Amino acid sequence: MSLTICDWKHGKRWVYSITYDEALEELHRFAVPYHEEFGIPGHVEAVAGHLGKVRQIGQSSYNGFHHMGPEGLRDLLARGWGVGNHSWSHEVIGPGDVQRELGDAKKLLEDAIGAPVPLFCAPGSNVNMADHVLEAARRFGYLGAMSITDALNRPGDELFWLNRTPLHEQYYEPFYSAYDPYRNIRFAQEDGGWIIDYCHCPLETAVHPNKDCSEAQLRRRFETVLAEGGDEVWCANPDEVINYHVTRRHATVETLAQGPDEHRYRLRIADLPPTVTCTELTLELVTDARWCAEPRIVVGSRAGGDAQTIIPLLVRPRTLRFTVEVCDGLEIGIGASGAQRRICA
Ligand SMILES: [Zn+2]
Repeated sequence: MSLTICDWKHGKRWVYSITYDEALEELHRFAVPYHEEFGIPGHVEAVAGHLGKVRQIGQSSYNGFHHMGPEGLRDLLARGWGVGNHSWSHEVIGPGDVQRELGDAKKLLEDAIGAPVPLFCAPGSNVNMADHVLEAARRFGYLGAMSITDALNRPGDELFWLNRTPLHEQYYEPFYSAYDPYRNIRFAQEDGGWIIDYCHCPLETAVHPNKDCSEAQLRRRFETVLAEGGDEVWCANPDEVINYHVTRRHATVETLAQGPDEHRYRLRIADLPPTVTCTELTLELVTDARWCAEPRIVVGSRAGGDAQTIIPLLVRPRTLRFTVEVCDGLEIGIGASGAQRRICA
């Protein structure tokens, strides 16, 4: 008999997300329509100091492309996407630059889109994942920071260094790894990992083989994720995933009663960062088989308020699964008296 918190929302086995650095208008040619077709949300990494401008940054392969402005970003939010901060200038961030590159940029983006920006995405290379940058990211209230290290993210990790899988035609020297629509998927299935793909703007051909894939390769990746993932993959906006991850890491379960007439638990959430905007968690309750027929779970806060009755999913014998918005002190019960019993005082 137990109440446990699932590694990932909805009790999914693994997670798939994808990010597009630079937030270019040209995503509307192929990427956005493919997202709409497959029902997978995306995430753009916007350069705060260049919103709405034609790209002209150093020797960028994307010079001449168009950075989305506030309207374009809001349009993506309305489609279920998220926006990350890809710095103010896209330059190397020195210790004296963190206020502008992480603090001011976050504020500007949040004002522009009218929504939180919980993720920082290092521009250029992992040079911008330096200690002083990550320290500033924590201080400015980010919930995570994204690198370009090709690896999985695991539910037990702290995740202030988020790994991303380059979805590119070919990697840089000396390995020249070729595009692989299955990259990291088998490992994610086995380890319950979170894949975050990244590219820039897939078009008929990759704009730069070491920075992008083609639209056909993007499409094949989505088809592969869905075919391999089936009901086991959570295709999610990384903002939702990082909120889930941080809430889970701060939550603990206390057993209050396991008597013949009822089982009751209390959730504790200690020191949750104030910038967490969603505290929904998926829980699994292992209980008496007799309470799994027409199951009713009663959820209510110890601090008062109305108790709520939830009809959970039966996922295997004696195991019920449900998702609730949690708060510190939330009580969860199941028992013979079912929905009639009010747990809140
Ligand atoms: Zn970039």
